[in-house]
Amino acid sequence: MQTIDEGRHQDIRDAVRALCAEFPAEYHRKIDEARGYPEAFVEALTKAGWMAALIPEEYGGSGLGLTEASVIMEEINRSGGNSGACHGQMYNMNTLVRHGSEEQRRRYLPKIAAGELRLQSMGVTEPTAGTDTTKIKTTAVRKGDRWVINGQKVWISRIQHSDLMILLARTTPLDQVRKKSEGLSIFLVDLHEAQRKGMSVRPILNMVNHETNELFFDDLEIPAENLIGEEGQGFKYILTGLNAERVLIAAECIGDGYWFIDKVSAYAKERTVFGRPIGQNQGVQFPIAESFIEVEAANLMRYEACRRYDAGEPCGAQANMAKYLAAKASWEAANACIQFHGGFGFAAEYDVERKFRETRLYQVAPISTNLILSYVAEHILGLPRSF
Ligand SMILES: Cc1cc2nc3c(=O)[nH]c(=O)nc-3n(C[C@H](O)[C@H](O)[C@H](O)COP(=O)(O)OP(=O)(O)OC[C@H]3O[C@@H](n4cnc5c(N)ncnc54)[C@H](O)[C@@H]3O)c2cc1C
Repeated sequence: MQTIDEGRHQDIRDAVRALCAEFPAEYHRKIDEARGYPEAFVEALTKAGWMAALIPEEYGGSGLGLTEASVIMEEINRSGGNSGACHGQMYNMNTLVRHGSEEQRRRYLPKIAAGELRLQSMGVTEPTAGTDTTKIKTTAVRKGDRWVINGQKVWISRIQHSDLMILLARTTPLDQVRKKSEGLSIFLVDLHEAQRKGMSVRPILNMVNHETNELFFDDLEIPAENLIGEEGQGFKYILTGLNAERVLIAAECIGDGYWFIDKVSAYAKERTVFGRPIGQNQGVQFPIAESFIEVEAANLMRYEACRRYDAGEPCGAQANMAKYLAAKASWEAANACIQFHGGFGFAAEYDVERKFRETRLYQVAPISTNLILSYVAEHILGLPRSF
């Protein structure tokens, strides 16, 4: 299958493909069945340096851009794996690289690059605020050389497989700020220490094998120097990370999309019913062809979003649109794939139902489709703000 990706960043693609080939479908299937974590896979990616792609060379990383990082994520999903186990390290890294102090960068980045520390978690979502992030209720109050954190988060992923988390908390009450996006700050939290000193974790069993949790903060004290950037500017900083996250997830959906299309095309050529391959019927061909067109189109927007991000240009619109198009395209491809596998699409050993569940998540997280439409309507088309 010739795609618009062909030849782009081929060295990275070949190397990641070779690594992924050592972790075939059976590996990911077993992990899914056991609701386990692909520790060996993430370890191999780390050892090979892929998890440090966005860390500048002077701190021990490979100093690549978001474009290359997105190719790594795409290839993992295209191989049948799920980047959800480890993509946090990519987008969180940029927050630290772009907004952390020199002291913070020197302290953490070389250890993360060497695989001694993992920065896989980001705590933003709260049960009552939902997508209305500026209404979060978790607070951080300065007391001498500490920040004292109180509140609750939900859906915070990879806590049990990370050493560090970037946490968003309100440092100035909402009724004391000029703009609701002000007065929020981000902090680097040492997860092991936090669990001994006031943060408790409740895992959430969910449809995908995705390690995600509720977090409760009860007078958790963290050192004052763990504030990232300027106090009160955290919302702006977190958006940089969220744009990177959207682009990376778009790339993952594109990887999923190609996986589904490959899988269903191969099956439709082989499966013979009524004396001919099912793929000979246009009723079968058209949904597959349509989803391929959509994945290819989404891919163009993904590269444009990456280009802008790497050039330091505004990329909010393109990051959101890439995520929207890619998540929609991979979902269409997933539907065609499960449909034309007939009953076999539901059998775990075909991997289709697993990938189907995995790609469905991206209609909702990290930002739901409706909220992207609302962003485009208001910020790009200038329609009146609806909330
Ligand atoms: C498996 C998983 C992992 C996650 N990992 C993380 C993580 O690591 N860190 C983190 O911070 N968060 C994480 N999240 C949270 C995720 O980002 C949110 O679930 C997502 O942003 C949606 O927020 P919500 O669940 O609060 O939905 P709500 O905000 O309650 O929205 C519910 C629904 O209503 C719709 N809706 C809401 N407002 C409007 C409106 N104004 N107009 C139209 N429609 C609207 C939305 O489209 C949505 O479908 C994760 C979620 C999941 C499921």
